[in-house]
Amino acid sequence: MNSTIVTLIIKVLLAVGLIIFLYKDARARDYSWFMWTFIPIITFFTPGLGSSIVTIILILALYLISRPKGNLALCPHCKKKIHTILAFCPFCRKSVKKECLRCHDTVDWDVGRCPHCGSTNLTKS
Ligand SMILES: [Zn+2]
Ligand SMILES: [Zn+2]
Repeated sequence: MNSTIVTLIIKVLLAVGLIIFLYKDARARDYSWFMWTFIPIITFFTPGLGSSIVTIILILALYLISRPKGNLALCPHCKKKIHTILAFCPFCRKSVKKECLRCHDTVDWDVGRCPHCGSTNLTKS
């Protein structure tokens, strides 16, 4: 194999890795995943801008700066990774937070008692 083909394969692998990462992470955060999956595809086929490693790093940096901050947790229903601030899972569309029936605050799925008023009277789903 000559080095041009090797370089091309590395670039394609990097671009595919980037696309998979952006798709998964943006979907988990319910953040314009459609747009972020297509930005690398479009730039990859743009002559000049193209498949350079600098472009890939730039897209990744832009995404990491602009994405919603916070941790990911497992959805209690479908076990996919989702952003902890979401009230509904972007994959299975089920509610991932409970509501306290006394003070109407949202409560994490895995707790049995409202952290705000101490009530155990929570919605079931
Ligand atoms: Zn889910
Ligand atoms: Zn409460």
